Amino acid sequence: MSYASKQVQSLPPYLFSVFHEKKKRLQAKGVDVIDLGIGAPDLPTPEFIVERLKSEAIKPENHKYAPYAGTQAFREAVAAFYQKQYNVKLDPNKEVLTLIGSKEGIAHMMYAVIDPGDGVLIPDPGYPVYDSAVHLANGKGIPLPLDPDRGYVPMFDLMDKRELKKAKLMLLNYPSNPTGATVEMDTFLEAVLFAKKHNLCIAQDAAYGLVTFDDYQAPSILQVPGAKEVAVEFGSLSKSFNMTGWRIGYVVGNEEIIRALSIVKSNMDTGQFLPIQKAGVTALQSDFSAVRNNNDIYQKRMETMLEALWDMGIQAEKPRGTFFIWAKVPGQESSKAFAEKMLEEAGVIITPGTAFGEQGEGFFRISLSVPTKRLSEAVQRMKTFQAGGRLDDSKKT
Ligand SMILES: *Cc1c(COP(=O)(O)O)cnc(C)c1O
Repeated sequence: MSYASKQVQSLPPYLFSVFHEKKKRLQAKGVDVIDLGIGAPDLPTPEFIVERLKSEAIKPENHKYAPYAGTQAFREAVAAFYQKQYNVKLDPNKEVLTLIGSKEGIAHMMYAVIDPGDGVLIPDPGYPVYDSAVHLANGKGIPLPLDPDRGYVPMFDLMDKRELKKAKLMLLNYPSNPTGATVEMDTFLEAVLFAKKHNLCIAQDAAYGLVTFDDYQAPSILQVPGAKEVAVEFGSLSKSFNMTGWRIGYVVGNEEIIRALSIVKSNMDTGQFLPIQKAGVTALQSDFSAVRNNNDIYQKRMETMLEALWDMGIQAEKPRGTFFIWAKVPGQESSKAFAEKMLEEAGVIITPGTAFGEQGEGFFRISLSVPTKRLSEAVQRMKTFQAGGRLDDSKKT
């Protein structure tokens, strides 16, 4: 007899924890491990946001419970951002809900829209949280095949008709973690038409919506006419404003899904700390130069790393967004074997593609959210590793 529920016991093992163990073991031996597996920005939150938090934190009126749906001001700031960035109109009272980070919202949404046994189409490769959230809510994950040869757009034609009948929800994530794939509006249009045809709703995860390069602007799925009838979009300040620890995000779009999610949430949690919501308003109302500065840093790092990979004969495309590089494992090795060797022999952690689903086999993910100097050091070591050299004693601290 176990006290843990069957759903918890049967969660798929978390591949990252295996590497975490290895990392600790190597560090204990004195190896200076460089972790390119981390999916969170290394850069600090912009100062003007921290200042707002500081000034609000000392006010006693901000120490009370926050409203369940988030403050009116935060929801209005999200709506104004959608108007300005995407030319999409949102009713801040019905079509916007404040979240304690988008991960929280994505996980709770499962309880809001699916019943036990309902199918959920999950991008493969994709963010591992989707699978676990569906599993915990007793849903059934169905891999959504993506086309690696066409920038990882969904291959709707390949979906099994019988499985589609059982499906209720489709998850999308562009710009994508882990592949860095980005899309144009036509992909979202196709997704909305597909969803309407098969009676699905859509949740598009736009965690990296503002982490883009050059003049590429990631579209919102809500720009598709009629998208609100079937779709919600999740957003977060975590990646764009380096605010992962603050836990502030939002979901926008379909009124019915948002109402259902707000009912689940009001039984599970209460709104985020008021000063954090207020600092979030300051971020959303800013001129986004802080976001552009971050993006410039990621882009430079990306160019450095890509050139090194190309020099090593490793295939990878330059993404238009995210701080991830999705690269091909050289030779015939499995992703996991390659990642283990890279850790053991070069002291560099990369994430094997299979951590993100079966279709990730043959690929690995490099996160650029480490200081530029460390990244250059990682490049040097990877080159030595690739040339057949082992981690030498100079790498030991
Ligand atoms: C980081 C990340 C999130 C979670 O962001 P929070 O708002 O901090 O919870 C959601 N989706 C993807 C794809 C991410 O990489």
